Amino acid sequence: MKKRYRFPLKQNIGEPAVPAVVNGETIVRGQLIAFKRENSLGANLFTSVSGVVAEVNEKEIVILANEEQKREFVPLKSEGALDLIEEAGLVGLGGAGFPAYGKLTKPFEKGGMVIANAAECEPILCHNIAAIEKDPGKLIRGLEIVLEIVHASEGVIAIKEKHQRAVQRLKEALKDRTNIRIHLLPDMYPMGEERAVVREVTGNILPVDALPFRADAIVMNAETLCRVQEAVDLRKPLIDKDLTVAGKLKGNENLIQIMEDIPLGISVSDVFEMAGGLAEGYGELIMGGPFTGKRVQLDDPVVKTTGGLIAAECFMKGPEKIGLLVCACGADRERMEELAASMGSQVVGIAYCKQAKEVKGTRKCENPGRCPGQVQKVMELKKAGAQALLISNCTDCSNTVMSCALRMGLPVYHCTDGALRAVNHVLIRRMK
Ligand code: SF4
Repeated sequence: MKKRYRFPLKQNIGEPAVPAVVNGETIVRGQLIAFKRENSLGANLFTSVSGVVAEVNEKEIVILANEEQKREFVPLKSEGALDLIEEAGLVGLGGAGFPAYGKLTKPFEKGGMVIANAAECEPILCHNIAAIEKDPGKLIRGLEIVLEIVHASEGVIAIKEKHQRAVQRLKEALKDRTNIRIHLLPDMYPMGEERAVVREVTGNILPVDALPFRADAIVMNAETLCRVQEAVDLRKPLIDKDLTVAGKLKGNENLIQIMEDIPLGISVSDVFEMAGGLAEGYGELIMGGPFTGKRVQLDDPVVKTTGGLIAAECFMKGPEKIGLLVCACGADRERMEELAASMGSQVVGIAYCKQAKEVKGTRKCENPGRCPGQVQKVMELKKAGAQALLISNCTDCSNTVMSCALRMGLPVYHCTDGALRAVNHVLIRRMK
């Protein structure tokens, strides 16, 4: 049966892409289907499958895929690394979706550092580390390309110390290089947050509204750099995505799976089918990681920023009245409210961690992962009538919440519980 692939026109920070195909048009894998307006911040969009355009509307392009697909693609046409990265439609694949070329247009005048963010910050997600273990050369080559484009003097690969095999593979591959080093990160959430990575590597904590450039640094996610290598060396547009697929899957044997080069636009349900199918009974379907992912439906498509698909454990029955404590680096207010509703609880109070500052309609943490104290917020929620707390805090702050909430008679639920339970992972509570 022919499958439907959906390509939302807006998969990046900035402007949506403009359709370049019409209904009924026959297209082939790697063909441009929507383009970035000239001089705008946006990203081209290419089809990951060959088939026929079934629908073009203001939000998306739908393609009816041929039953037989080949891996070949229409190659990019540009000359020069930066133009190839721009033409490829590359965006930050760690979840942010900032157009990749947008970070690279202003070279450093002196010095400068490019940091490959290989923190794989979220629990469960592991496709970036698996890719490094398999072929560290791809990431290193992508980093070299970017170093050259921005005239940076140093490359740094930031990776958690616990990923010993990946670290070893990188060390071997970097043996004869002097301009790229490894920086080991502690195993805490949110070590992969952009400003947390800059702080760990450079020692500078940036203000909430500052970009890494202020610390003479550019941060790029590990898979993004691998796709830079493909765009420049293979002329491949961004059409495939590596994923971690996990949770309530049939069989109970392979609860965390890595899937390489999954075609963009494929439906969530088709990806779960490829992983063996969903088990009977599951709760939240999460696109992304357990902390920052979003709730999705089975017919939603995989997009450029999709890193994980997780079928969480069935929702726990919550208390009648619950208080929400929201982190800037964890589940946002909207997802927390969805979770509370699914637990059958009425939200009687919402508090934000005091380091979660509002910046341009979103929240950013002043010092990610370093707890400012949570007692006052917990007391506020208790006073509002909460019988329990649902929190999305980082590991350090969850630890603090645990040390005071229980003493106040408030049980604690965490936004990651359903995902972590589904894969038998230790829950985010007290730090060891
Ligand atoms: S300090 Fe607060 S806002 Fe920052 S990461 Fe921790 S819980 Fe989130």
